[in-house]
Amino acid sequence: MSETVLIIGSGPAGLTAAVYAARADLSPLMIEGMAAGGQLMLTTDVENYPGFPDGIMGPDLMGQFRKQAERFGTRIVSSDVTKVDFSARPFKVWVDQDLHEADSIIISTGASARWLDVPGEEKLRGYGVSACATCDGFFFRDKEIMVVGGGDSAMEEALFLTKFASKVTIVHRRDEFRASKIMARRAIEHPKVEVMWDSVITEIKGDTAVTGVMVENTKTGDVTEHATDGVFMAIGHDPNTSIFQGVLDLDDEGYIVADGTATSIDGVFAAGDVVDKVYRQAITAAGMGCQAALDTERWLAAHEEG
Ligand code: NAP
Repeated sequence: MSETVLIIGSGPAGLTAAVYAARADLSPLMIEGMAAGGQLMLTTDVENYPGFPDGIMGPDLMGQFRKQAERFGTRIVSSDVTKVDFSARPFKVWVDQDLHEADSIIISTGASARWLDVPGEEKLRGYGVSACATCDGFFFRDKEIMVVGGGDSAMEEALFLTKFASKVTIVHRRDEFRASKIMARRAIEHPKVEVMWDSVITEIKGDTAVTGVMVENTKTGDVTEHATDGVFMAIGHDPNTSIFQGVLDLDDEGYIVADGTATSIDGVFAAGDVVDKVYRQAITAAGMGCQAALDTERWLAAHEEG
């Protein structure tokens, strides 16, 4: 049996698409992925999602999204998609050996944290190197840690980590932050936060746990060693599109090329961070998920496959 709408990915974009598709009686099947809920599962307070004037924890917000999608009849498979074939309709989507066929697809696989790709980083991941302050901050009580990056994520992670750490040093490659003024000010003014400007980490040191880093000054070229117990990456994200390579048009950075939500294949739509490298907010992803569901509904009606 072919599904009418199959949604891949379960962040704000995918779950909003699911709410709309389910309410349009399209009975969507969502393959939520092992990292279900997306990046908000790795954040703490979300203070800018409208409707929550006191803020809401990221995982709680995603729990509410999921509950709403299920309430209207979204069916959810908790696995990763391993392969797709969109060369003919019905479209084919595999979860290991299980084949799902669908008349239309909505892709909302989001993006994942970027790593520095320096010596020591991979070996020490989980042993002091992390890209998730919410997940790992607890282990750094009274320790000194570094946060790499100058965007809102770096500010948010640094501020969150001050709850545990004795000192948080933000290592940024330029002499000004990219982060919004309010977030940057909060971080800079925090008594536990220091900033290392014009600096890049070139190596992470330690055998079984992080003990220090080598830091190069981007202006002078000087390399110095600094002791630290942990290094948290907050240097942006890459779109999760490896399974769509050679299947859909992707841009140089791997984002799905879309006209609105329409991808290069008729009947395959995309929404959220997998397409959008400009706004990348939960609310914009949710809005785009809504658009994708409405576009899919109209496309199905036009193709009399709904
Ligand atoms: P981002 O804005 O792209 O910032 C990434 C930061 O990492 C930049 O400062 C960048 O430096 C630095 N960087 C990138 N590659 C690097 C490398 N190889 N080595 C060293 N530094 C590197 O990413 P983000 O902070 O994750 O934010 C993404 C989006 O989410 C933004 O739109 C942001 O506003 C939003 N966001 C919002 C909130 C909130 O409002 N509460 C919280 C988190 C994120 P340069 O500045 O030199 O490029």
